[in-house]
Amino acid sequence: MPITLRGDTEWVTGNMGDNKRPEKILGVKGMNDLLPEEMARWEWLESLVSNLFRDYGYGQIRTPILESTALFVRGIGEVTDIVEKEMYTFTDALNGEQLTMRPENTAAVVRASIEHSMLYEGPRRLWYFGPMFRHERPQKGRYRQFYQFGVEALGQPEPEVDAEQLLMVWRLWERLGIELADRPGLEINSLGQTEERLAHRQALIAYFEKHAGDLDAEAQRRLHSNPLRILDSKNPAMAGLIEGAPRLPDFLGPQSLAHQERVLGALQAAGVPYQLNPRLVRGLDYYNLTVFEWVTDKLGAQGTVCGGGRYDGLIEQMGGKPSPACGMAMGVERLLALLEAVGRLGASAGPDVYLVHWVEGSDSDALACAEQLRNVGLSVQMHAGGGSLKSQMKRADASGARFAVLMGESELASNQVTVKVLRAGENGEKPLTPQTNQSAQITLPLAGAVEWMQALLDEEELRRGP
Ligand code: ATP
Ligand code: MG
Repeated sequence: MPITLRGDTEWVTGNMGDNKRPEKILGVKGMNDLLPEEMARWEWLESLVSNLFRDYGYGQIRTPILESTALFVRGIGEVTDIVEKEMYTFTDALNGEQLTMRPENTAAVVRASIEHSMLYEGPRRLWYFGPMFRHERPQKGRYRQFYQFGVEALGQPEPEVDAEQLLMVWRLWERLGIELADRPGLEINSLGQTEERLAHRQALIAYFEKHAGDLDAEAQRRLHSNPLRILDSKNPAMAGLIEGAPRLPDFLGPQSLAHQERVLGALQAAGVPYQLNPRLVRGLDYYNLTVFEWVTDKLGAQGTVCGGGRYDGLIEQMGGKPSPACGMAMGVERLLALLEAVGRLGASAGPDVYLVHWVEGSDSDALACAEQLRNVGLSVQMHAGGGSLKSQMKRADASGARFAVLMGESELASNQVTVKVLRAGENGEKPLTPQTNQSAQITLPLAGAVEWMQALLDEEELRRGP
């Protein structure tokens, strides 16, 4: 029977064609499924960044995926790529509310901090990890649902806070094991304060008006509404014109320059390399003073993995008590693609143990053995569905397990198990031998087998280093 929802669209329950099989329903374009093999990497990354953020005094916040459309229009700025053409906005058919699926998280974190008076007792440091939604043309590194993690330091005016967030990203590269030469480069600029940007804006309009004939359609549209954004244009035909445009840094007053000096000084003191980029403006309206991007040349056109900066005016603009703030957001898909490109992602890890048992009637023994292994902290996948030793060993190998634990006739008779090492810990495919120089296979009572496997796992842990 056809189901009709809200009048105009019909969802047919399993329309049977001639071949009696209902048509497949596919996922939404530009939105990805994350399957278990890949999720292992995501879990690893999420736990790594959550430790990193804790080390810098940030606490986690989760805000809803849906917010009032007005939040993003006011927060991000009307004349921006995101608000003009990338937002999933709709009217809630049940009550007529204008809603938008969050395209980024800063505006919502600020909203929540105001709504819950979070700055009442002083500055707050918050971090998040979650999906964002932008209606863009899907391509490698650019999706319609993608993930970001990021931090927001609310109520903190000091340039050292900006610098500390950059040091934190630098430490992230280190913890992820990215070699110096493979790390994204830091590009940094100062957008100054409102009056400075206004003076620059006037100079910019005058300059672009003089060259009105060379502006593309988008730039013409933005000439009077948001000329700064023209500098952000990705149209190569505009590159020469943009190159000659008045530079924002030339309009900065002593206070803005002093702020930037302190940020740069802190980076130098910590040995974090950076590149000043006077054309860096970022795609959102709320920034002032420090803005930055971390850019890699290893991912083609989608090379910006992280962006952020200071947004001292946003909290007041959103109706809160004026409070300075600084934050950044990292694209998770691009970060994982970078890790892959620089060889930092090994084969996805399987369970510690795959339990192989092929004797008729041994199912309950195998089940009990698997439970005992789990009791001592090993992860275990028990073979299901029978089959020969050979076919089960194939499955064991395909599972990505470190060890196969075998229960055959002789093992069952002698109350022992046989352990076979299937692969080395990190990304090795070749079997390891333990430091005791035993062979890569051993038959022992279960307690001994556990000890043997754990010694090997511990050794691999050490070998993997910090
Ligand atoms: P771009 O210039 O590539 O469009 P952006 O300036 O729009 O990036 P931000 O809003 O600063 O990006 O978001 C921070 C990070 O989130 C980006 O550096 C990128 O890693 C990631 N990101 C942004 N949009 C997408 C997307 N559509 N798909 C995947 N990752 C994205
Ligand atoms: Mg974008």
